[in-house]
Amino acid sequence: MNLVICLLFSCFLRHVIARGAQRSTSLSSGFRNDSYAAITRHLFEENQSQPSIDIARGYMTNSELEKAVKEFGQRCSHISRIYSIGTSVKGVPLWVIEISDKPGEEEPEPAFKFVGNVHGDEPVGRELLILLANWICDNYMRDPLVKLIVENVHLHILPSMNPDGFSLRRRGNANGIDLNRDFPDQFFPWNDYEDARQPETKAIMSWLREIHFTASASLHGGALVANYPWDGTQDKRRNYYACPDDGTFRFLASVYSQSHYNMSLSKEFKGGITNGASWYPIYGGMQDWNYIYGGCFELTLEISDNKWPNAKELPTIWEYNKISMLNLVASLVKTGVHGRVFSSDRGRPLPGSITIKGINYTVKAGMAFADYHRILVPVERYEVMAAVPGYKSKATSIWLGEEAMTVDFILDPGVTSEGTLLQSICGCNCGHKSRHLLVDYFWGIHFEVYLVLIVVLAFLCFLLRRRIKFNLLKHRQSPKRSVMV
Ligand SMILES: [Zn+2]
Repeated sequence: MNLVICLLFSCFLRHVIARGAQRSTSLSSGFRNDSYAAITRHLFEENQSQPSIDIARGYMTNSELEKAVKEFGQRCSHISRIYSIGTSVKGVPLWVIEISDKPGEEEPEPAFKFVGNVHGDEPVGRELLILLANWICDNYMRDPLVKLIVENVHLHILPSMNPDGFSLRRRGNANGIDLNRDFPDQFFPWNDYEDARQPETKAIMSWLREIHFTASASLHGGALVANYPWDGTQDKRRNYYACPDDGTFRFLASVYSQSHYNMSLSKEFKGGITNGASWYPIYGGMQDWNYIYGGCFELTLEISDNKWPNAKELPTIWEYNKISMLNLVASLVKTGVHGRVFSSDRGRPLPGSITIKGINYTVKAGMAFADYHRILVPVERYEVMAAVPGYKSKATSIWLGEEAMTVDFILDPGVTSEGTLLQSICGCNCGHKSRHLLVDYFWGIHFEVYLVLIVVLAFLCFLLRRRIKFNLLKHRQSPKRSVMV
């Protein structure tokens, strides 16, 4: 009897420690749900009955993870590539798997990233991400959802951001720094010096400068919920603190929780989602930094109530999360507004800014193709605006249904005089003086000659616009509802 009481107390203590380390304020909130706890107990039943077991047994070591990444790269070389974004404090490479039908090539497609093992003592994510990569490899051509992802998204997977913390079995990195507090913060700029940051944090920051990610998710343990910005509040109080895209994030977080086996059933978190600051505020987190500075919509996914469950639970946790992970990535192309921005004079891609009326947030179009991917709550009316310095902005009102929609913009140079417009068409460097000459000759003896010239120019202009439209159609990847503005 004493043994049973001892085991129960030990399990309770571990549960409290696991939560307390990451969720210190949730203990004081007073919420508790018996049915949710029952699900948790059922899920981790076996682990709780063996409290003395070596927790790392059955989990990949760092060298085994590296081997798994490289083996995957060889086995699935047709739809993937392997690269490193840097090294940890102890020099362990931070390996990334990119999955796409054209890995390493820039395309007018959205990019998504999964980051696992941010906290060293939360290793479930790194295992699930390797399973995810292999699942995609094995089911490409068989599963329509997987095919959609491979052909329309560039998926980047970093199984472990904190390999040193994993081998030390602790939350922080080898310097004992919590990497999810090491990013620049909108309210408290105490760690604004990039040189003072940890190498793992710097690697993530330069990764975002290199790749234009549309959305991402980091994987954690210790609870079962999809967390969204803001993570911090200005007055440091625990309150719901909505970011400009609160609705968008609630939608995105719900895509995950509603596809999950039991995340949305939580009574602790309504619908299995939570605003970070209303749960407990943090500062220097990766999630808010991604949204503010990276233009990337990031979620923090707590995928197992136990931070380090028995490895025997991994296949179950994978099954519970698999469809959620796939649906989250696929939501980038199945919903939202997508398109490209072009100049009307030469048909050049213009890497401009896209804004939505009523949402104080700007999405940048890509540099190479000027493609943009704007996640939005479906079944709503929006006014989408494209702006590029030196060009006249354009706005259009759309009805966004359940499916994704394409809205391409063709912007005119921001000029009004006929002479300058002619200049931009012919591409010559006509000065102010020659514009006067043009007007003089126009009404002079060569009137007929210039009339023919204008007709020819107008015809060329017509052909150019046709070519732009043709290019737009060529780049469209799915039978989305399309609008050209
Ligand atoms: Zn964590």
